[in-house]
Parts: sequence; C-alpha cells; structure tokens
Amino acid sequence: MLVPFVDLKAQYASIKPEIDTVIQRVFDETSFVGGKYVADFEKDFSIRYQAKHVIGVANGTDAIYIVLKMLGIGPGDEVITSASSWISTSETISQTGARPIFVDIDPQTYTINPELIEGKITPRTRAIIPVHLYGQMAHVSTIKEICDKHELFLVEDCAQSHFSMESNVLAGKTGIAGTFSFYPGKNLGAYGDAGCIITNDDHLASRCRMYANHGSLKKHDHQMEGINSRLDTLQAAVLSVKLKYIDQWTQSRINNATLYSEHFRNCTEVQVPQVRRDTLHSFHLYVIRTPVRDKLKLFLEEHGIQTAIHYPVALPFLPAYNHLGHTKADFPVAFRLQNEILSLPMYPELSVPQIEYVSAQIANFFRK
Ligand SMILES: *Cc1c(COP(=O)(O)O)cnc(C)c1O
Repeated sequence: MLVPFVDLKAQYASIKPEIDTVIQRVFDETSFVGGKYVADFEKDFSIRYQAKHVIGVANGTDAIYIVLKMLGIGPGDEVITSASSWISTSETISQTGARPIFVDIDPQTYTINPELIEGKITPRTRAIIPVHLYGQMAHVSTIKEICDKHELFLVEDCAQSHFSMESNVLAGKTGIAGTFSFYPGKNLGAYGDAGCIITNDDHLASRCRMYANHGSLKKHDHQMEGINSRLDTLQAAVLSVKLKYIDQWTQSRINNATLYSEHFRNCTEVQVPQVRRDTLHSFHLYVIRTPVRDKLKLFLEEHGIQTAIHYPVALPFLPAYNHLGHTKADFPVAFRLQNEILSLPMYPELSVPQIEYVSAQIANFFRK
C-alpha cells in the first residue's frame, strides 16, 4: 500500500465540478485582481470567524509582516515567539527591523512555553506571537494575561490552526490580530499562495488593508508607501468554495487523529500528540515522538509510507540565526524534539485502511 503524506488530488476530486465552475467564471469575467470574489471570501470568512475585519493578502507570511509593521514595530524593538515554527513567524519580525526573541516550547504541547515568556521580556519588547502549531492551541489565554500585564501586542499565527479553539474561542480571536495562511497544504488551502488577517480593531484593519495595496484604499490616493500583497481573485474564488466544507474536513482530521492514537495505545514506544484540555486541536499535522525517529522514518519509507518532519531544525539553530549566537542549551526542549518528532500522513481523505496500515507498520517496526 502507498500512503502519501498529503493528497491534494483526492480533495480536488471531491469538489471538482464546483471548483471548475468558479474558476471558469473568473476567467470569463477576466476580473483577475480584487473584485467580487475577494470581497465575498472576506465576508464569508468574517462571518465564520465573527471577526469585524478580514483582510485578504498574498500569503500567510505577508499577513504577519503587515500586522507587525502596521502596529508600528520596527528597529530597536523585540518580538517574542516560539523556538519551534516555520521561519515565516520569525523572518517577518526581522523584516520590520525588530529582533526575534525565541522562547523554548512546552514539552507536552510543542507550543511556546508560557512559563518562560516573562523571563524574556525587556523594555524593548513590543509583541508576542504564539503559534498554534500543528493545529494545537498555544496557551493563548495565559499569554494574553502576560501581554496585558506588560502592555504588549498579542498577534496569533494561525497558519496551522484554522478553526482550532481554546475554551470555545477560535484561534486568532484573542489577540489584536490573527494571521492565516491558505497555502495549498494548510487545513484551508487555496490553489496557490494566499493568506488573510483577522482583527476587530478598526484602525489596524484600515492600515493593514492600505499597506497591502500600495498604501491606498482608493486608487491613486496613496496615504503611505505600502507593498503589493493582495489576495488573488482566483484563490479567493477557490477559498469560498472550500470554506463550505471546512467543518467536515476538520472533523475528518480529528477522527483520523483519534484512530491513530487508539492504534498506538499498546505501542508504548510512540508518544502520541497530547490535546490540551478544553481545546479543539484541528490536526493540521499528526506528530508522534520517538528517540529512534530517523530509523522509523526510513522503515516507513521502505513500506510505501511518506512522512515528514516539522521541523528538522528549530528556528534558533538555523544558519539564518547564527548571528544571534544561540546554543542548544538555550532551547533544550526544542533541540531534543527536533530529533524525535515525526509527522505521519494526515489529511481529511485519509482512509481507515490507510491509517490501519501505517499504525500496523509502526507496530511492526518496534516489534522487530
Ligand atoms: C505556512 C506557515 C506560515 C506562512 O504561510 P505562507 O502562506 O506559506 O506564507 C506562517 N506560519 C506558520 C506557522 C506556517 O506554518
């Protein structure tokens, strides 16, 4: 049996007539930038999130950069974030001229460890960016208290956590803004790059919208210099179709994760993902942990099972951050985990026999 890590074809096949129809419509109307489809998607997403403002942008990286920049973060400032994430979270901090300050992760949840945050706050700190990694909510209400106490902005990186919740509050709704990626492999994925910002703050929303479109809300009325980071019309049209199915897809991911974890109940060598109490984990990724990760990965590959590592090198240890001079001892949990984590195939269309096959092969590996 072959089990791919993700299978975007299966999902396309399940909604092909609808997708093909809207794409043809955008082509027929030759309205490729802005317009009705972008406005409609922003409206659809704002309804689902009960967010006052949704600003479509070109990708999830720009979403973070634009928010930070429009919050006035820049040279001399520090922004705290997790040692374990995709580089977008920290490179956007640097893009503003500020300095990323990494914090080690919670060994149970793999998200930023809230107990270590206050030790990193200095008079230069302006914001904290928790990442709801793999679909697991960071300890966002605790982080919000820290932000309020120290008068810091809370910006949530929700690129991996569409419709995740903590105490029934959606990811992205606790901070001043939430940023989303609709990269094709994300839980809500476009057919190319796309992203958005959600916020209830009118002033921030207006500034973000302006900045993402050359500093203007009206053509030729440039209130400031900005960038070109608009949500592509074709992507918006695709996203509006896919948004209708997101609840059922999230539920399938959760069911698949539950099934995996049940199969591993007797396989003590595998540490399965821990879901925090009173949260909804949207399982962008199903990440297990074992000290023999590399051998297991190879074994699964030999048996037709694709896996991946998120991430093989934690942010502070990337060559891009050599200049910060971090050592392994600064982030012991992130360092240890980068050698033990393994992401198993996870997508809504993953079948029960596929999950059983993957689980059985992992059990075989440990029985050898
Ligand atoms: C994917 C991702 C992003 C960036 O999204 P793009 O749309 O690829 O720019 C940011 N943060 C995290 C945690 C991500 O996984």
